[in-house]
Amino acid sequence: MEKPVFVTREKAEEIAKKYPTPFILYDEKGLRENLEAIKNAFSWNKGYKEYFAVKACPNPFLIRIMKEYGFGCDCSSYTELMLSKELGIIGSDIMFSSNDTPDEDYILAGKLGATINVDDITHIDRIEELLGHLPKKMSVRFNPGGLFQLSNGIMDNPGDSKYGMTEEQLYEAYEMLKDRGVEEFGLHAFLASNTVTNEYYPKLAGILFDLAIKIREKTGVKLSFINLSGGVGIPYRPDQSANDIGIIGKEVQKKFEEILIPEDMGDISLYTEMGRFVTGPIGALVTRAIHEKHIYKEYIGVDACAVNLMRPAMYGAYHHITVLGKEGKALTEKYDITGSLCENNDKFAIDRLLPKVDMGDLLFIHDAGAHGYAMGYNYNGKLKCAEILLREDGSYDLIRRAEAPKDYFATFDCFPEFSGLFKDK
Ligand SMILES: *Cc1c(COP(=O)(O)O)cnc(C)c1O
Repeated sequence: MEKPVFVTREKAEEIAKKYPTPFILYDEKGLRENLEAIKNAFSWNKGYKEYFAVKACPNPFLIRIMKEYGFGCDCSSYTELMLSKELGIIGSDIMFSSNDTPDEDYILAGKLGATINVDDITHIDRIEELLGHLPKKMSVRFNPGGLFQLSNGIMDNPGDSKYGMTEEQLYEAYEMLKDRGVEEFGLHAFLASNTVTNEYYPKLAGILFDLAIKIREKTGVKLSFINLSGGVGIPYRPDQSANDIGIIGKEVQKKFEEILIPEDMGDISLYTEMGRFVTGPIGALVTRAIHEKHIYKEYIGVDACAVNLMRPAMYGAYHHITVLGKEGKALTEKYDITGSLCENNDKFAIDRLLPKVDMGDLLFIHDAGAHGYAMGYNYNGKLKCAEILLREDGSYDLIRRAEAPKDYFATFDCFPEFSGLFKDK
């Protein structure tokens, strides 16, 4: 089975003439379609807002496009907060959902007026101490423990995850917040990751809507928003079918009307913090075949490595590969597609059936738009690649340059004895 690509071989070669491979290519048209679909899916909820999970794809050019659609930022670190601020996304347009949080991060979140989503009950005192007072609008992260299961077998294990508070702590937290002057309260939970089913958000919404009623009963706190967080997945494999955000939105609406409206809680705003679903499929790692090797297996070496896309090496994650210009050709060969790191897990694919790959061919590694560039590192002194945005009219723009050696050595810049490291390039 084939997955569609958003660039032709000819266009990719044209881009590669100006910006050598490897690079991550993003599809503006696909991104905008996605943003529109997300917005429409939840437009029935008056206060709806998507806070893009910056960690998935921290590129200001892309987030600026999201801002046009009214999206905010879900940040979890100091530098993600900086990025958001630089784009003018501040105040309640920032959701700060962190855990194990350093003081300076809370201080910056407080300064920017972000809505802080409290991961642990002990953080309430800390935030109050660090900021001098609690913000007027705050959120609490819930962890129900146990197992969380969907009907298609998708399962996650909240009881084994480090995030959020128990139900008892949750009630206590709302009491504390209320006593200390907080006026707007939110509830947040993230129970399963990369769910390739339309069922996840509706099921989570049902749990959180029921909980909202209990919270009101137990503490008198009436929530003003419920944050479904991230977890909506994408079909990495060609035989999986994509989630339909329109259906997801409608199913959440049903729960909303069943559970919250009769309780006179129909004014609750819904928030989401999707990352992977927003940018995953609209980014691809474009890399060139530069080496073939025939030993006990057949290897195709490419000019990218795990530094540019770590998921296969880190989780054994599947990323579909299309040999550009050979779409539809018979899959006659079985290859390991490798990068150049001195790590045998540096393989984008293992025993993958592909058409015959010739040296110089361009490989389109799908679904690299989330947790792709963002997870990159510099092992073996390998440099991170450029990011390029393919515009709707077929033109393209560099949206992050490739690293140069001087970037790799930048943290030695305070040592004149090694100034030679900066002479090149
Ligand atoms: C990672 C993360 C998200 C985004 O998750 P996706 O699976 O990319 O949608 C949202 N919220 C929080 C708190 C996260 O840690």
